[in-house]
Amino acid sequence: MLYKRSSQLFADAEKVIPGGVNSPVRAFKAVGGTPIFVKSAKGAYLYDEDGNKLIDYINSWGPMVLGHAYEPVVEAVIERAKLGTSFGMPTELETQIAALAIKMVPNIDKIRFVNSGTEACMSAIRLARGYTKRDKIIKFAGCYHGHSDSFLIQAGSGAITFGSPNSPGVTAGTAKDTLLARYNDLDNVVELITANPNEIAAIIVEPVAGNMGCIPPKEGFLEGLRQLCTDNGILLIFDEVMTGFRLAAGGVQELVGVTSDIVCFGKVIGGGLPVGAFAARAEIMNYLAPLGPVYQAGTLSGNPLAMAAGLAMLQALDADREVFIRLKEKTAYLAAGINKVLTNNNVSFTINTIGSMISVHFDDNAVVDFQTAAKGDNETFKKFFHGLLQEGIYIAPSAYETWFITDALTYEDLDFTIQAIDKVSKTF
Ligand SMILES: *Cc1c(COP(=O)(O)O)cnc(C)c1O
Repeated sequence: MLYKRSSQLFADAEKVIPGGVNSPVRAFKAVGGTPIFVKSAKGAYLYDEDGNKLIDYINSWGPMVLGHAYEPVVEAVIERAKLGTSFGMPTELETQIAALAIKMVPNIDKIRFVNSGTEACMSAIRLARGYTKRDKIIKFAGCYHGHSDSFLIQAGSGAITFGSPNSPGVTAGTAKDTLLARYNDLDNVVELITANPNEIAAIIVEPVAGNMGCIPPKEGFLEGLRQLCTDNGILLIFDEVMTGFRLAAGGVQELVGVTSDIVCFGKVIGGGLPVGAFAARAEIMNYLAPLGPVYQAGTLSGNPLAMAAGLAMLQALDADREVFIRLKEKTAYLAAGINKVLTNNNVSFTINTIGSMISVHFDDNAVVDFQTAAKGDNETFKKFFHGLLQEGIYIAPSAYETWFITDALTYEDLDFTIQAIDKVSKTF
């Protein structure tokens, strides 16, 4: 397949946009080559500016769990746009999506909508600090909670891909309040809590990590965090920006049966429009302005187009809970197929998967945290990525990213993908 026009468009973009992209994960820096410019997308497929059709395993990095241009979402946005696109005043839509989210997610009484996952996580820790009157937070190496200052300490996703897990521009003053732990290592968390008595406001965690590839929590890890938080007056924040409304209607809280104190959302909750949200029990949420002292705001928060898209998406998921089973089955089928062909072709690999998230690491050790994720062979990944691209399959241009399975993928698409992986891995 040729990507000629994309290359030209990228050259034009580079002149006026830093690195030619508005988010670094879209760049092909880690794999070489130039990003593909999309013209349109429908269901499981992307159509690019060169006229290529690609099977999409990124799906806007998660939101399109039912496939691209999902009809009820598109309709809702079109109808809503005719009524005006922003008012800076309340609409009934906001109450409708809030009520539905609260019905679907366990253990939350109130929810506030923002414009991105970054804003959701940033606001959640401010709320936790205001509520507990403590300053420090614990985060895990390789977890990504958006690009706000407190979180760019050993951060995952693009931050690892581009070698800046600790970003310049974050002050030492901010960095000192973020304590770093190893994912899936409770003892390490205990050490940090013991060394900082009564100082930790919150532990923030991706309850299933998805930004250093997919890393499910070990048995007992989330339960252990819950207990440590309860025992030490610390709030447990589940960053479910990736996993919320994807792994189950109620996210990982429902899947694993562990409750968080504050939960963050993004991606699926906006149906492909810019939406984030954070939610908790009333007692905590009432600390937010205008009821309480913790300030948080947004001119476009609860935007009617975004709320209409998100509501249509959540309604679809709520009405058809079987979707989570179908997604899991499709993902398991793909994982089994990839496992078979890579084994036959003598490739060193580990596949991690849970629900509709999957990642292939080119290393045969178990991948359980940032350190083990970092052992993957990037040269093999590059060949894999470009080989698949030639076959018309689009995965994330980084070995540290999860693939997102959508309900729009057919078993023919999955078989095609497995065959392509067979072909490509023979050339390693
Ligand atoms: C994507 C992501 C974020 C950031 O969300 P944005 O909408 O990109 O700001 C935060 N946390 C997790 C777990 C994510 O996957």
